[in-house]
Amino acid sequence: MLFGRKQKNPIKIADKGVVEWKYAACGYCSTGCSIEVGLNAEGKPVTSRGVADADVNRGKLCLKGIFEHELFTSAGRGTEPLMREQWHQDWQPTTWDSALDKVHDEIVRIQAKYGRDSVAIISTGQMLTEEFYTLGKLTRGLIGTNNYDGNTTLCMASAVSGYKRSFGSDGPPGCYEDFEHTDCLFAWGSNLPEQHPIIYWRMKEAQEKRGFPLIVIDPRVTMLAQNAHIHLAITPGTDVVLMNAMMHVIFAEKLEDSSYIETNTNGIEELRAEVAKYDPVTASKICGIDEDTIRVVARLYAKAGAAMAIWTMGINQSTHGSDGVVGINNLALITGNIGKPGGTSLSITGQCNAMGTREWSSCSGLPNYRALENPEHRAEIADFWGIDPEFFPKKRGMFQTDIYHAIESGQIKGLWLIATNPLSSLPNSARVRKAMESLEFCAVQDCYQDTESAQYAHVYLPAGTWAEKDGVMTNTERRISVVKPVTPPPGQAQPDLWIFNRMAERFNQSGKVKFPEKAADIFLEMGKLSVGRLADISGMNHELLEKQRGIQWPYTQEQVKNGEAPPKGGKRLYTADGTFSYADGKAKLIPLPFIDNNEVPDEKFPIWLNTGRLIEHWHGRTKTGKIGDNNKYSPIPFIEINPDLAAELGIERGEYVRLVSRRSDAVAMAMPTQRVPKNMVFLPFHFHDCANRLTLGLLDPHSRQPAYKQSAVRIERIADQMAAAKLSMEMRKF
Ligand code: SF4
Repeated sequence: MLFGRKQKNPIKIADKGVVEWKYAACGYCSTGCSIEVGLNAEGKPVTSRGVADADVNRGKLCLKGIFEHELFTSAGRGTEPLMREQWHQDWQPTTWDSALDKVHDEIVRIQAKYGRDSVAIISTGQMLTEEFYTLGKLTRGLIGTNNYDGNTTLCMASAVSGYKRSFGSDGPPGCYEDFEHTDCLFAWGSNLPEQHPIIYWRMKEAQEKRGFPLIVIDPRVTMLAQNAHIHLAITPGTDVVLMNAMMHVIFAEKLEDSSYIETNTNGIEELRAEVAKYDPVTASKICGIDEDTIRVVARLYAKAGAAMAIWTMGINQSTHGSDGVVGINNLALITGNIGKPGGTSLSITGQCNAMGTREWSSCSGLPNYRALENPEHRAEIADFWGIDPEFFPKKRGMFQTDIYHAIESGQIKGLWLIATNPLSSLPNSARVRKAMESLEFCAVQDCYQDTESAQYAHVYLPAGTWAEKDGVMTNTERRISVVKPVTPPPGQAQPDLWIFNRMAERFNQSGKVKFPEKAADIFLEMGKLSVGRLADISGMNHELLEKQRGIQWPYTQEQVKNGEAPPKGGKRLYTADGTFSYADGKAKLIPLPFIDNNEVPDEKFPIWLNTGRLIEHWHGRTKTGKIGDNNKYSPIPFIEINPDLAAELGIERGEYVRLVSRRSDAVAMAMPTQRVPKNMVFLPFHFHDCANRLTLGLLDPHSRQPAYKQSAVRIERIADQMAAAKLSMEMRKF
């Protein structure tokens, strides 16, 4: 017996009096973990646990999922509709009818005065798919504004755009099971242990069994980089240069898969001509990775039996985000690493249902990856919904990031925000604040009444959250999981689906467009629209999804007829030759000239500002900032700063500093660490009135996603530390 362990108090797990467990899928990140929420005898949610027979998480949950039941009773939940004439007045409680009438009347008034597109609707990646589909039908089919987008533009737009450009359609081709088959894993700007802890666990378990090399490309020594065989500390914003140089080596050493290229791709000659300019010597001067290492990693990738690439915001949130995704796809295509076990390009998605909005929200087009630009798609959906096809715009409208510029310039006068908080999440928040102030009308629909953006609202619609609602979500590997109501929304708050349906009644007085009430029925309607398409879900229904703990699409009615059981996992896209979504079945190899348009450090602002996430928080902290067991680990913003830089500036560990960019300034606590080089600081973006006061957020030309990770700042000591501490606390009041 070691150290008398048996005499110590045994570990006790508090008995929370659970009498019933209810099933849901996690509502934070896109990993798609299955959760059970425990209810006590009074029907109150008191605990959460992972579902053991769910293929994704196999009983595990991360720090966010394990406390997710606390969301239901967290502070700031909205319990009644509110209204006011001016945004700077106090809120007055009102009825649902009055609040919904007001939103309807204001949308109609503004559209009549300024035109159909003068109202914008911005949603989220946080709702359930049936809610997205219903909002899309309402917006595209009845309200008719083309300025309708989601906050997914801030996280996944570059992945969507890159997949469409390369393969002809969005839709990640790989799956988590690929970790179990790969011979080599490249992680581009992805810090799995903090951002997607359960995917990290799946990867790590596979790696421990088979020992494949892990190459991490990230300017910072992230947790994943600490575990890498090779860490490439790349110069921010230059990934495309490294990708081109790797392709240069692959072609120069004849390591490409010529037969795959011939059968499955177009554009090889143009690609060869472009990458010929990026010899490793030239490229090393731009991307900061030495020429020998470029050659080593290029050979490693091309010679692997199966090579896999994953990426997250390090690629997407860049002025070259879409090109970065195309570059990853180019590398996969020239080496035949698509659609085979362990060979894939897998975007690790952001929000829990970012995929659901990509597939079904109609933000960027029409349901199930249909395009507004395609007349057949417009006719098909108009016929199905019972509307005039001419009512649809002929091309997509503005992205979220452009909508804010249009508010600034007076083109957009009305805004309906749904489960998103742009005042905290968009770059250059001073500009966003000014834009919000100028709106004639703003409605905020959110489960929290006290979001920063609600300051500028005229109507507040209290919504349910996560497992107060009924519907499905799609995860990173195209797996659809069902969420069932664990508890009702508080007070008068209502599920988003109920709110959309009541709003639809106001725009649909002739009743010509049908809006089913039940999520399970809406799912079946979506299934009909999916038949024969890439994301075919016609073989699924809510009951089957719960029984199977999620099913990857496609799973079709044909498969059901043929008696084929739903896949447990391991489903890939583009597994056969000539099956890409372009008309000729071939993928495109796209040359990527590099244009250096980032803000870069200079004499006045000499330090790179790199932003990112922490394991305990979720995006704008709207949720996790109110959950004690999450918030206590990181209650205030801090910077990672290199100890040499801190010493040079006379900054001690734990001191508050002032960060200054060309936009504004922010206060954060200094945490010296070797994780960042001497010319860079890392600042978590979760905290309101902090990182986004500083960011420039130049937009990617294809995806319109902002470059959150490449700005320049200077750092100033603060003499009055007490005042800085007080300010830091006060700014966290939301
Ligand atoms: Fe939820 Fe993501 Fe954590 Fe899984 S890894 S429990 S999906 S936050």
